[in-house]
Amino acid sequence: MVSREGADSVRLAFPELGDAELAEVRAVLESGALTMGPKVAELEQLVAAACGVEHAVAVSNGTAALHLAVLALGIGEGDEVIVPAYTFPATASVVRLAGATPVLVDVDPATFNLDLGKVYDAVTARTKAVLAVHLFGRPLDWEALQSAVPPEVLLLEDAAGALGARWRGMPCGGLGAAGCLSFHPRKIVTTGEGGAVTTSDADLDASIRRLRNHGLDPGMDIVEPSTNYRLSDILCAVGIPQLNRLDELLAERTRVADGYTERLAGVVDVPDADEGDTHGWQAYVIRLDRRREAMETLRAEGIEVQIGTYALHHLTAYRDQGPFPGADEAFERALALPLHSRLSDDDLDRVAEGVRRFA
Ligand SMILES: *Cc1c(COP(=O)(O)O)cnc(C)c1O
Repeated sequence: MVSREGADSVRLAFPELGDAELAEVRAVLESGALTMGPKVAELEQLVAAACGVEHAVAVSNGTAALHLAVLALGIGEGDEVIVPAYTFPATASVVRLAGATPVLVDVDPATFNLDLGKVYDAVTARTKAVLAVHLFGRPLDWEALQSAVPPEVLLLEDAAGALGARWRGMPCGGLGAAGCLSFHPRKIVTTGEGGAVTTSDADLDASIRRLRNHGLDPGMDIVEPSTNYRLSDILCAVGIPQLNRLDELLAERTRVADGYTERLAGVVDVPDADEGDTHGWQAYVIRLDRRREAMETLRAEGIEVQIGTYALHHLTAYRDQGPFPGADEAFERALALPLHSRLSDDDLDRVAEGVRRFA
């Protein structure tokens, strides 16, 4: 079958950008201050406030945020970092890039998040940190994570898809020693490419700022060379109006998610958050046995669906670990449905009708 393009297709994602973003970008271009200027600081303040922390450092993407958090905490050779076996590969890759060992731990396919009993079992004397993911915006049970590891193990958040999500009322991205956000176009707030590290630790904030900018310290010396992970003022300008209306953006995503749940609960396995938590709805990911068939057919009909994410032990780089039956199940059964503010009730009907045929 040939895929249908154009007005008929239902897009997977569509960023909500308009006049407010254009006006901010225009002001930056007219100011001539294109990087390390006032818009970077403004975006950082909004991110810190949204996550309920003291500091946020804007960086070039979510992977850079993860990389700098790991480096700034001194994680390196000889250290083990626990990461989920089912996640976007960057979660594990930054650990490897820092010279440390990512230790994969299985996930619960019902939540897509770390299986915390298995985290407990994976802790060794070398465990330096857990890089915990709130996958697709579903808050991980943070208290259960804290009880699963000894107190000296650092807890870091890959909150790349969890801006706006809340665990027991507390913002994701503000729960760990450091939180890592992404502003990729499939996230709730997007700058095209972008990210941020959050923390309430002033020393950690200073280290991350240094590492983001070649290792330069405030005295213009370089003790530890680093790279350039800065985010330009032009891109920060795109993010600022969205951060100012984060509640509205989340409400729109919640409208779509609730619309799918209304139509599909009891038909396929639908996603949700724990009682008392707020899902961030980075993605609406259902589970169904005939996923492969559903994905091919829906795509051919112009409905842009996608796999959930990767089972890392299926990738050559991480093939030495396993088995992970939870990650296998998540990988085989997960299907991400279109999720953005332009979806109408008719679109939701069409997607749900398409899915029902494969239940
Ligand atoms: C999007 C995402 C990333 C990577 O972010 P980029 O900005 O694309 O580098 C990492 N981890 C998770 C869980 C993500 O959803």
